[in-house]
Amino acid sequence: SFLKNYFENKNLLRKKGISALVTTGPTREYLDPIRYISNESSGKQGYEIAMALSKVGVKTILITGPSKINFSKDIKVEKITSAEEMLKRVKEALPVDIAICAAAVSDFRPAIKKNNKLKRHLANSAILKLEKSPDILEYISKNNKNRPKIVVGFSAETENLIENSLSKIKKKYCDFIIANDVSKKNSGFNVDYNQVSIIDKKGQINKISRNKKSFIAQKVVKKILDELLLDDKNIN
Ligand code: C5P
Repeated sequence: SFLKNYFENKNLLRKKGISALVTTGPTREYLDPIRYISNESSGKQGYEIAMALSKVGVKTILITGPSKINFSKDIKVEKITSAEEMLKRVKEALPVDIAICAAAVSDFRPAIKKNNKLKRHLANSAILKLEKSPDILEYISKNNKNRPKIVVGFSAETENLIENSLSKIKKKYCDFIIANDVSKKNSGFNVDYNQVSIIDKKGQINKISRNKKSFIAQKVVKKILDELLLDDKNIN
């Protein structure tokens, strides 16, 4: 088939003007000016996906939470801090052909953010009243006006990986879920290696054995582009 090697023929895609947005990294949800809720996400897998898309000629914007990555000048990077800011930046980036939500968005945030540092004598459990953060993936996939042709979510689980991922694909209206077992120390959060399964809407599971995040990124990008260009007879 024509769906072979985008990586050797990037002008093919550049000419088609395909665009993508990728979210990555953690978000920080501040309680006061110096304290926040966050998580261990490094942003590496999303960054590698954005790099892989960019390398094959897809116009890509990477929207990232706080990360230690030394970002390449070759891709457009937008740095944000909170889930709220990430959502705002995503809205500005739409419409795109492809959206990949690799960010580990904090699911909860403090209901009230104080302008001044909380005093120790005021600390009590009521101070940590939480509310839900906006769900960015859901916003994108349920956006009727501007829904990207392909929406990809990630699913980091410590148990029942496939089962939970399949229900997530339905609940969040994704085209693909990249399921990620984060119970193992040698892959997943904060390391250069990952082990994922790419799951599509029909429930087909494509397991990729443990490998560098850059390699996984290429596999994911190939899968997405195969799907996007499936009906495209002009490509050859
Ligand atoms: O339901 P769960 O949080 O496990 O879903 C994970 C997926 O949803 C990831 O793709 C993540 O980027 C996305 N997500 C999001 N906004 C949230 C929570 C999760 O975009 N507030």
